[in-house]
Amino acid sequence: MKVAVVGGGIGGLSAALALLNAGCDVQVYEQAQKFGEIGAGIQISPNASRLLHRLGLKPAMDKWGVRPLAVHQKRWDDGRTLQRAPLGPEVEAQFGAPYYHFHRGDLAALLAEALPKERAHAGHRLVGLEEKGERVIARFENGASIEADLLIGADGIHSKVRALTFGPEKPRFTGCVAWRGLVPAERIAHLDIEVASHNWMGPGAHCVHYWVSARRLMNVVCVVEHGTWTNESWTDKGNVADVLARYEGWHPTVRGLIGAFPETFIWALHDRAPLPAWTQGRIALLGDACHPMLPMMAQGAAQAIEDGAALASLLEAMPDDVPSVLRRYEEVRKPRATRLQEASAANRTRFHLPDGPAQQKRDEAMASSGDRSMENIGWLYMHDAALVS
Ligand SMILES: Cc1cc2nc3c(=O)[nH]c(=O)nc-3n(C[C@H](O)[C@H](O)[C@H](O)COP(=O)(O)OP(=O)(O)OC[C@H]3O[C@@H](n4cnc5c(N)ncnc54)[C@H](O)[C@@H]3O)c2cc1C
Repeated sequence: MKVAVVGGGIGGLSAALALLNAGCDVQVYEQAQKFGEIGAGIQISPNASRLLHRLGLKPAMDKWGVRPLAVHQKRWDDGRTLQRAPLGPEVEAQFGAPYYHFHRGDLAALLAEALPKERAHAGHRLVGLEEKGERVIARFENGASIEADLLIGADGIHSKVRALTFGPEKPRFTGCVAWRGLVPAERIAHLDIEVASHNWMGPGAHCVHYWVSARRLMNVVCVVEHGTWTNESWTDKGNVADVLARYEGWHPTVRGLIGAFPETFIWALHDRAPLPAWTQGRIALLGDACHPMLPMMAQGAAQAIEDGAALASLLEAMPDDVPSVLRRYEEVRKPRATRLQEASAANRTRFHLPDGPAQQKRDEAMASSGDRSMENIGWLYMHDAALVS
């Protein structure tokens, strides 16, 4: 089974490793001149980490990942913790795999290093795609052309594979932008921040932060409601003063973190409505190419990792019938990814409530019902995407 994966992000690389493990002959084609990720953090929950551990990545993940003890939901002004849910040893014992925080660059590097060099092709931007009988032919901007039995579009929210297969369509601006910053530990030692995920919720904005890179850096993401966005680039340099102005009146810890940014980048958040189809013939989409979502469930990459694991299991079970495998892949994966797209959008509203009756109701619910209790999060963390048939 010759499989071409277009896109060498977290989704494409982890799918390639899962497919290799399932006995496929996999090649990965990435448009950038080298495999890598932007400077920011990423949370990897047990539903995804167990799949990566199974691929032999546990030692590298333990080396680079930080294991948070808890997740705190906090009020924007007085810093009161509305809810503290465990993420540490309790979660690992319950769900059989740890919760990690990574610098994206570290995670991308450990995935890329696990892929044999001869299977990784940087500098390959897909420009053309054609299905001919039982083969898919892909053409790249550099003049190269390849054939495969199956082609996977893991090329992100602006997916070329998607456009070439289902027609062009722009992702939609969600109305939120994120400023991100990576703060060196020594700049914020005085803030004495617990090794946890911290989510500060306030009117029209929230701020998430956690340690990455063996606790040398604090990853901070400030997400705000922003009305319109016309710039096509989604990773522009921003001004720290603008972030501070937007977070006027917020708790001194939040302002202290922002004030310590060495630099900041602004990231316009896009998504898409759930797609009618993820697959066609011998072409399948995976990750943000088919189910981009807002980051408020921290599940976009986790779902991409799940997609790859499910696809690999199905191909291993039915190697002779690619179109049936792809139909089944879409059938098993779509409801879960759609649920997470919807849950992420709902959390955006919840996190950004102005102070008032709805916010008070939210805070009471967080305090009393324990909506991040082990039972309530089991559907997400316990799921094993490789167990499909
Ligand atoms: C602020 C923020 C915070 C987030 N936090 C989390 C989190 O904590 N946990 C989590 O699970 N998810 C999180 N996400 C979501 C996560 O970042 C994405 O879902 C994930 O990176 C998608 O991975 P992907 O491989 O599908 O796509 P991408 O990461 O976009 O990778 C696509 C790759 O394809 C390449 N490519 C594109 N076009 C072509 C082409 N024509 N030819 C060849 N290659 C091409 C690109 O260069 C890129 O390398 C967050 C997102 C945001 C915005």
